[in-house]
Amino acid sequence: MASRWSFIAINPKILMVTSSWPSPVRPAHRLIRASSPHNTFLVTEQCDQLCVMCSQPPKKYHADLFEQFETAAILAPNKSVLGISGGEPLLHKEKLFRMFERVARLRPDVTFHVLSNGQHSTKDDVKQLIEIGTERILWGIPLYSSDPRTHDQIVGKPGAFRSLERGLAVLMQAGASVELRTVVLQQNRRHLGALADFVFTRLSFINVWALMQLERIGYGRMNWATSFLDTSIDFEPISMAVDRTVARGISVALYNFPLCSVPKEYRQYAPSTISDWKRKYLGFCKECNARSACGGFFEWYSHDQVFSALGPL
Ligand code: SF4
Repeated sequence: MASRWSFIAINPKILMVTSSWPSPVRPAHRLIRASSPHNTFLVTEQCDQLCVMCSQPPKKYHADLFEQFETAAILAPNKSVLGISGGEPLLHKEKLFRMFERVARLRPDVTFHVLSNGQHSTKDDVKQLIEIGTERILWGIPLYSSDPRTHDQIVGKPGAFRSLERGLAVLMQAGASVELRTVVLQQNRRHLGALADFVFTRLSFINVWALMQLERIGYGRMNWATSFLDTSIDFEPISMAVDRTVARGISVALYNFPLCSVPKEYRQYAPSTISDWKRKYLGFCKECNARSACGGFFEWYSHDQVFSALGPL
């Protein structure tokens, strides 16, 4: 059967995919922006968790674009790092891994950054992960507490912590690259020190532990009042976690923190991480000397309901 999808080169920098459905229902998706280092394929909106801070609340149905993603990855600019997100991408593990295998063969310079809840890898995946190439995928895996009950409550799924432990063991066995991600919240504020100890004792194979600020969109916006931790006036849980982790030789990073919300001695851990297409700066940033190094704010940031102590550096 002929494919319902086709590609349009809008210009040398943009690759779009469109369908043969009749107008006005014809969808078009921009898959790659060659000028941007932040290209992400949203491979599914289905998910098996309901995280309190989810920026992309799950949907029941799945629109399958793997064929198109694979073509786009093969046509991507040299040495592209392509994000893979959802939903939970590994709910479609077979297709996803097949795409990785094909792209790895044709475009060994292209690598992936996969955001996954880490619960869908089994021992049977180890061989395939090694064949795809462990240097080809950085796995962004969330862990919110070393206390199973707290982690499960945050992700809205009983048993999630135990499944995640098994998934992380598989990634460790495969020698995978892992970026452990922890959104700092009111719910896990008092757990961050214990989580730092857990990272050292149980997960020291990871490449980096990323402590992240909350994104005010989706469920994050809905649960903002009960979840957002104003680290511009309450940085102590973060500094304790960073100190413990750095002292033990594990890399740590602060994602999505405006630089002026971070005490001076910790700014070295806070790179600019908000993607260019969803980043903004505020009026007072015009007078700031640190703007070029600062990631600023998410486009959907609301200045009346967030950090209370910010200002130009
Ligand atoms: S004033 Fe703006 S640019 Fe400067 S550190 Fe704060 S958020 Fe960043």
